Amino acid sequence: MKKIGVLTSGGDSPGMNPAIRAVVRKGIFHDLEVYGIYNGYAGLINGNIKRLELGSVGDIIHRGGTMLHSARLPEFKNPEVQQQGIKQLQKHGIEGLVVIGGDGSYMGAKALTEQGFPCVGVPGTIDNDIPGTEFTIGFDTALNTVIDALDKIRDTATSHERTFIIEVMGRDAGDLALWSGLAGGAETILIPEAGYDMQDIADRLRKGQERGKKHSLIVVAEGVCSGIEFGKELEKATDFDTRISVLGHIQRGGSPTAFDRVLASRLGARAVELLIEGKGGRAVGIEMNRLVDYDIIEALGRKHTLDIDLYKLSQELSI
Ligand code: ADP
Repeated sequence: MKKIGVLTSGGDSPGMNPAIRAVVRKGIFHDLEVYGIYNGYAGLINGNIKRLELGSVGDIIHRGGTMLHSARLPEFKNPEVQQQGIKQLQKHGIEGLVVIGGDGSYMGAKALTEQGFPCVGVPGTIDNDIPGTEFTIGFDTALNTVIDALDKIRDTATSHERTFIIEVMGRDAGDLALWSGLAGGAETILIPEAGYDMQDIADRLRKGQERGKKHSLIVVAEGVCSGIEFGKELEKATDFDTRISVLGHIQRGGSPTAFDRVLASRLGARAVELLIEGKGGRAVGIEMNRLVDYDIIEALGRKHTLDIDLYKLSQELSI
């Protein structure tokens, strides 16, 4: 293998830049030429491809977003469109591709691999919902962004003796809500993996009030329902003074945490090693602080599971 490519695709996440940097520098360390594909699969089929040098990835390790930009291209599900992408790669003599993104992007990488072009998937998403890894790049940064917001909201909630509903990202996976709720001391955490009982929530809030609690924080993952919807329901069930805060896209941005930078560096570098070893069609991850890799098809067939013990703990600690 002499030439490899790297692209970022789907929803961006903080830490994609250090992952790109790792792919480029690790590749050059091993005497490979590394090409950046701009704008995800859309840039791939349009041939938006440029060679990256050591300096091309200088001064990005601390930056959020992705220097290669990201895009969504629904047409990439079409095998003919995938062939167009492979032709562009072959035109540049690129023999292997690192795809940094979420499960949708992995599907694209899987499709290219099945068509004979070796790809390695690197998990980049704030949702922490990729099978085959305990942590995805960007989750820790997003988590810290949410906690920062929760701490600030707690101050004003206490001052005014209010109940706050904080809607966080997570359509299918409740990791961000669970971890942030636990770390931020939320009274109630609503995740897509579990149902909720409004009467039970109202009772718990009342009990807290009776023992002199000045505020309550409720974290709702967007996949459960919108914070506004939940606020209306809560208002019907109680007479609490309630406010709603939808954190939105600030959760996607910001300088990656040290954890995400190190994770991105390790996973990006491992992806290059796999391509050099001739092992395409893999997905890299981390388990018990060790680098692992799985067949990308097998990995996608599995389901990310929430840490149920952590969920139980959050309930025990918020009585
Ligand atoms: P994420 O990677 O963050 O999950 P998306 O689900 O939007 O984001 O997927 C990113 C891109 O991956 C899509 O816009 C599309 O180009 C490609 N993609 C998604 N699903 C498939 C699929 N089944 N086959 C081929 N490509 C896909």
